[in-house]
Amino acid sequence: MQQVLSNRIITLSESETRAMSKKSRELESQGKNVINLSIGQPDFFTPDYIKEAGKKAIDENYSSYPPVSGYADLRAAICRKLKRDNGVDYKPAQIVVSTGAKQSLSNVIYALINPGDEVIVPSPYWVSYKEMIKLAEGNAKFIETTIDSRFKITPEQLEAAITPKTKLFLFSSPSNPTGTIYSKEELRALADVFARHPNIYILSDEIYELINFNGKHESISQFEDIRDRVIIVNGVSKGFAMTGWRLGYIAAPQFIAEACDKLQGQITSATCSISQRASLAAIEADPNTSEDLKKMNVAFLKRRDLVYKLLQEVPGFKSYLPDGAFYFFPDISELIGRSNGKVTITGASMLCDYILDNVYVALVAGEGFGNPKCIRLSYATSEEKLIEGINRIKTLLADFK
Ligand code: PMP
Ligand code: GLU
Repeated sequence: MQQVLSNRIITLSESETRAMSKKSRELESQGKNVINLSIGQPDFFTPDYIKEAGKKAIDENYSSYPPVSGYADLRAAICRKLKRDNGVDYKPAQIVVSTGAKQSLSNVIYALINPGDEVIVPSPYWVSYKEMIKLAEGNAKFIETTIDSRFKITPEQLEAAITPKTKLFLFSSPSNPTGTIYSKEELRALADVFARHPNIYILSDEIYELINFNGKHESISQFEDIRDRVIIVNGVSKGFAMTGWRLGYIAAPQFIAEACDKLQGQITSATCSISQRASLAAIEADPNTSEDLKKMNVAFLKRRDLVYKLLQEVPGFKSYLPDGAFYFFPDISELIGRSNGKVTITGASMLCDYILDNVYVALVAGEGFGNPKCIRLSYATSEEKLIEGINRIKTLLADFK
């Protein structure tokens, strides 16, 4: 049969995070009591003051196309936020608002990457990075890390990965899937490497900025000697419990912002006007004084400590206490090859399927994040569900020797 779909789409992998959520919804619709620890989205509702701003925007007839890069007052508010929270100076012309940080990332990758350009990505990485790079016909070059270094790369590893074809470095801190955060000193050491390689751009995904148990967020954009090559990606999905509103943004050198504006102008025009007005309310509020954000962060911290304790009791799961985001990424190497007499564990993907099919707990296999010996557990759900879900896994795995 003639191939109808493009090679581009045929070689594209489905998002593993979305696939696991789809599978758990299907099981739920068959009446199964599924505990979904797969998707990374806060289980809180969007704070009321943000919802009110969205309702007001509807009443005030924000119903026509917004400017491609976002409303001027929203972009100005993003600049104030970057100064207030991160100490960095940006002009509205350097800001592009998009349909989620996902679109922000893909805009930048499309704007910068020619076929054959290399993009260095520390592994484990967020699932969509690899596929976005592939769509742009770039070559992802992964730097492998292990749980022993809390999945952080060293400056030596970075230096060794650089070639004349390296165009971009892409990472997230706080990290999805590991929850690891690079300290200011560690970021400075990476920045020193970039300072020696003036043709490399740095795409810094800071979407988990507000879910940080170490205190102050550190952005690699703070280093002035490389700032003219840093592109910050952020948004409202995680910190403000606004995943469905679909709003993300970049702060970038102006020529990159203009390139993203041109691309977006041909593809989505702009993100939803109502979301933009609601996000303006979100971004204007100082996170240090917002009671709503504090409540969410207290809950995430409590859950993190609870899950850490519970995971110590799961046979074969090796974890550490993550610094931020809302994920654990336990190493399950010890379980590979163990059997219960009927079934043998062959890897993370098989283990996640086995857990979902038998005790209805949805996790995401590490393969999609570049590490087949780990699994990802999202704790953005209630303590009751976390306790019940992890207990189910513990009981299931107790028979594997
Ligand atoms: N980057 C990372 C690391 C993420 O985990 C996510 C999750 N959705 C995104 C970007 C995209 O976020 P958004 O909802 O703003 O598209
Ligand atoms: N970023 C979230 C996750 O990793 C949401 C899913 C997605 O956008 O792919 O689960």
